[in-house]
Amino acid sequence: MSNGATESVICAVCKQSCEGKPHAKDAKGRVICRACLDKQKAARSAADTGGAGVMADLLGKSKMANATPCPSCKSYMPQGTVVCTHCGFNTETGKALNTRVVETTKKSEGGKKGLWPFGKK
Ligand SMILES: [Zn+2]
Ligand SMILES: [Zn+2]
Repeated sequence: MSNGATESVICAVCKQSCEGKPHAKDAKGRVICRACLDKQKAARSAADTGGAGVMADLLGKSKMANATPCPSCKSYMPQGTVVCTHCGFNTETGKALNTRVVETTKKSEGGKKGLWPFGKK
């Protein structure tokens, strides 16, 4: 019966027997198998450096910095763009590019012709 010997070699993290496997003890005297130890190390080093998250954040920020918000509609314009694709605002001239709404609705004269034949009695 090998009861007594095996019980003490159980990984404190994954609860698996480390008997016959490489394992170590942490500062609290708990048995931790090699696999769990490596995982902890990896997690710690990743947290320390900050990893690729910072780079991605930086990249995203610089992208936003390059993009110019349209002074008119506040939508971001790609770098080098002069005319806003949303509202047609031209950042060089400071004027909206899209032509003013031309008054083509002068046909509204006939509006008063709506006299119903049965309107008066
Ligand atoms: Zn383990
Ligand atoms: Zn715009």
